[in-house]
Amino acid sequence: MIETTDLKKTYGSLNALQGINLKVEKGDIFGFIGPNGAGKTTTIRILTTLLEPTSGDAFVDGHSVWKDKAKIRGVVGYMPDSFGVYRDMTVTEYLHFFAAAYGIPSKTRRGLVSSLLDLTDLTYKKDALIDSLSRGMQQRLSLARTLVHDPKVLILDEPASGLDPRARIEIREILKELQSMGKTIMLSSHILSELAEVCTRVAIMERGEIVAQGGIQDIMDMARDEAEVWLRTTDDKRATTVLRELPVVADSEFSDDANHITVKLATGTDLAVLSAHLHDRDIHVRYLERQDPTLEEVFMTLTKGLVQ
Ligand code: ATP
Repeated sequence: MIETTDLKKTYGSLNALQGINLKVEKGDIFGFIGPNGAGKTTTIRILTTLLEPTSGDAFVDGHSVWKDKAKIRGVVGYMPDSFGVYRDMTVTEYLHFFAAAYGIPSKTRRGLVSSLLDLTDLTYKKDALIDSLSRGMQQRLSLARTLVHDPKVLILDEPASGLDPRARIEIREILKELQSMGKTIMLSSHILSELAEVCTRVAIMERGEIVAQGGIQDIMDMARDEAEVWLRTTDDKRATTVLRELPVVADSEFSDDANHITVKLATGTDLAVLSAHLHDRDIHVRYLERQDPTLEEVFMTLTKGLVQ
């Protein structure tokens, strides 16, 4: 649904995008993650046809940003990272204004605005001035505005920035609902965990380059040379030694304090290998849990030495 091929952007002597290849599939909630200055906004502005690339190409729903700007604008809903200058309007006036700007016939506008207010849980604020809304409500209103022309693709620049935990959860719930309505969503964030739980896939960007791209689990595996598993068995002491016989196991250690065996093994190993090996030696697994790194650890590892 979104694809970039060797996409480059330079500002004077600065290479803001160094030839990136991104792929967002239909129905994805795709997290575009990177620290400040990584190039997220530049990429988003190119995808939304607000900025031309220096070279390479980008496609949204099959349309090239070089050739089909008008078609892209028809299929994309873009939510910028700042709200704009409409603060002395009411919530309803604001949505009517954008619906009119998108050429929605006046007959259908009222129903549309009402359903957008409902979707973003703002009906009770419909007559409030935008200036009086909390940041979370303003973000939801901004999201409602991006939906006015029923776009297939939503591109949201830092939708969770500056929101408290409750407001982030509210945005997350709306994104899930939009996904279930068949929308493809790309959102940027400089904090991996901010909305990443809701993402089906992510790309991590650093200094104009994609350092990792894929499912959250794939990215976690990339960030770790070894996977870690905790387990309890019917004979922990013997199991600790027996597990070391497996070539995929780098280390196996029992901790009295933690009361479990910690096994370090090659990433991507099917964990059934461990239980089968123990079973053959008449040891039975009581508890087994894969220990994934936190999203922050992943992010720090993948952008190691690069984050300023
Ligand atoms: P942030 O999270 O801070 O918004 P970002 O990942 O969105 O960061 P960009 O805004 O795309 O990053 O910026 C990428 C790089 O390009 C930065 O070094 C930035 O200073 C530079 N840059 C962005 N816009 C311009 C511009 N119009 N002219 C010159 N340099 C720019």
